[in-house]
Amino acid sequence: MRIVVLAGGIGGARFLRGLKRAAPDADITVIGNTGDDIHLFGLKVCPDLDTVMYTLGGGINEEQGWGRADETFHLKEELAAYGVGPEWFGLGDRDFATHIVRTQMLGAGYPLSAVTEALCDRWKPGVRLIPMSDDRVETHVAVTLPDSGSTPDSGERRAIHFQEYWVRLRASVPAEAIVPVGAEQAKPAPGVLEAIAAADVVLFPPSNPVVSIGTILAVPGIREAIAEAGVPVVGLSPIVGDAPVRGMADKVLAAVGVESSAAAVAEHYGSGLLDGWLVDTVDAGSAERVESAGIRCRAVPLMMTDLDATAQMAREALALAQEVRGA
Ligand code: GDP
Ligand code: CA
Repeated sequence: MRIVVLAGGIGGARFLRGLKRAAPDADITVIGNTGDDIHLFGLKVCPDLDTVMYTLGGGINEEQGWGRADETFHLKEELAAYGVGPEWFGLGDRDFATHIVRTQMLGAGYPLSAVTEALCDRWKPGVRLIPMSDDRVETHVAVTLPDSGSTPDSGERRAIHFQEYWVRLRASVPAEAIVPVGAEQAKPAPGVLEAIAAADVVLFPPSNPVVSIGTILAVPGIREAIAEAGVPVVGLSPIVGDAPVRGMADKVLAAVGVESSAAAVAEHYGSGLLDGWLVDTVDAGSAERVESAGIRCRAVPLMMTDLDATAQMAREALALAQEVRGA
């Protein structure tokens, strides 16, 4: 079975671990979000690709969900001693090596997809990990900075890098718009459209619908390829009981005019894209609303508390795919 998964960071990576357990013989291609990518200290950092790679490759900091296990921060401290920031983005010493290798290879002319493959030679994630595009796409968030009067730019409307919004501001001010800068001109990376065309099923893990999966779908050709592939497309809700399980997805959903509920996210993707949608058992009451939008819906436990629970979620997603295929 060939499975294509569109993935962000933590939600995508943890789900993939369960999927590998549930379908050990499947050929899994992961199309990773690169809208979160940022240049820091002259290095190209790809947070979502790395979260998938480290999680599946056994190098992740389990508690945190991102970054390396057994990490130290000497380099960051040394940079801070020189007054070189940003201090709000936590890059550890082990993690830095990944960004150095990536930046070096990009500088030598390799596209990001080839670089990612090379990094995966070390991590052996057990899936094929492809960035959504080799072209630069950077998610920006339009905000009005709080009028504290303390900084010259307070009270001003500005577009800031997604990481600055998410990590520095912790989404503490409303996101007025989300713009995947560069997406319109971006082309899917080599292998992306081919994997979709050859897939038996496409899964949307419980990743952020706006800044993870939404960004991938903003690359021209990807949404169309999925809609036209003629295979079941099944998603799992990242919203449980009207709130994100982790993080601040409600803030970016509000920016695109979508309420923070499992049913609203399904409607946001729409029946033109989604065939099936899993909501958590606490949201069983919303299944009818999803079904009336033309999307087959089941309520099952959706908390990725451990590998067994996550594998069971993956089995449910594959079962729903089978069900819509037979319909
Ligand atoms: P990010 O790039 O690291 O933010 O990760 P993703 O976009 O892949 O996933 C983030 C989403 O995962 C958040 O909106 C969370 O609500 C969701 N999420 C995290 N853990 C769980 C879980 O155990 N169950 C469900 N259903 N969603 C989860
Ligand atoms: Ca992300």
